[in-house]
Amino acid sequence: MRDLAPDLQRRRDEALYRTRRVVQGRAGPEIVVDGERMLAFCSNDYLGLAGDARVADAMVRGVETYGVGSGAAHLVTGHVAAHHALEEELAEFTGRPRAVLFSTGYMANLGVIGALAGRGDSVFADRLNHASLIDGALLSGARFRRYAHADTAALEARMAGAGGERLVATDGVFSMDGDVAPLPDLVKTCRRHGAWLMVDDAHGLGVLGDGGRGSLAHSGLGLDDVPVLVGTLGKAFGTFGAFVAGSEDLVEMVIQRARPYIYTTAPPPSVAAATRVGLRIAAAEQWRREKLAALVRRFRDGARQLALPIMDSQTPIQPVVAESAARAINWSRNLEASGILVTAIRPPTVPDGSARLRVTFSALHEEAHVDRLLDALSALPRGDLA
Ligand SMILES: *Cc1c(COP(=O)(O)O)cnc(C)c1O
Repeated sequence: MRDLAPDLQRRRDEALYRTRRVVQGRAGPEIVVDGERMLAFCSNDYLGLAGDARVADAMVRGVETYGVGSGAAHLVTGHVAAHHALEEELAEFTGRPRAVLFSTGYMANLGVIGALAGRGDSVFADRLNHASLIDGALLSGARFRRYAHADTAALEARMAGAGGERLVATDGVFSMDGDVAPLPDLVKTCRRHGAWLMVDDAHGLGVLGDGGRGSLAHSGLGLDDVPVLVGTLGKAFGTFGAFVAGSEDLVEMVIQRARPYIYTTAPPPSVAAATRVGLRIAAAEQWRREKLAALVRRFRDGARQLALPIMDSQTPIQPVVAESAARAINWSRNLEASGILVTAIRPPTVPDGSARLRVTFSALHEEAHVDRLLDALSALPRGDLA
């Protein structure tokens, strides 16, 4: 058994050590962390539904109706009426024949890639894809090729000569950069090569497109263009879980083959009951998307005036690039001293030399919150750190 201490120390020395904070109270832009009230810009609760009273009430009523645990896997006796109703509503919301729930987005990605690709097949992934898409590709046993970020010409070059089934997987909105994938071009490339296109829209659903229908709606694409859609429920919809949506046959194949679906307990039905309400609110309350867009505009205008190193993103994910991990940590600590919480994102979550503050907005932030953030960002030390 090796000594683990030197590895841990090396992480500390390289400013890569990660820690958890203890948060008290209800989710929202202002949270109590380690006993202190902080203004937070780090969650993926884009529409502000994680702490919504109606969603919380639905979960309480779900517990009263169904009890707490589902008691079994979906294919045994764990598939409860609330799960089933939510699947039907997710299919309708995404305009697809069918959807199947997963416990988490991480598991959905492992499951669907494993169901569609295996030894002898090829999976192609954008270099900045979420870790779960990378892990899903590796676990599938298929040949795994990564292409330069958002570069369909690079994808084309990699696809030439690949054998077996071909699956191209991409984030819809890139989780750490906030940019939208070049979906219409990816659709064309996949058509040309007879490849599956799979979009993980964890950060687009609820936020982009008409009624929050996500990056595909935003780009005018449907089932015929993108046969495999993965969505998560723990972000804009405010609850927990994930789903895969597509044709009857695709969803049935996932149910038959996806090991992270088959060999795990179904999530608590009350979570599905809460998500049904979260989904309804997300679709109906357009003001949340309008408010988000206004906050993003205000932030970007202010950041440009201050010449802050922001990226080219129009979504509520607005990274401020520090480059080195040490500077990202230093910035995060500086903000914290003024009561503002923005987590530093460092390698390997982002490529070396691109550590950043990942600023995110929620529909429950106020304009005054954005101004406070800009003030604090303008006071950060910009020079090199030793
Ligand atoms: C958050 C996220 C996931 C994982 O979803 P969980 O439900 O949190 O496991 C998958 N893909 C992307 C792009 C994500 O941002």
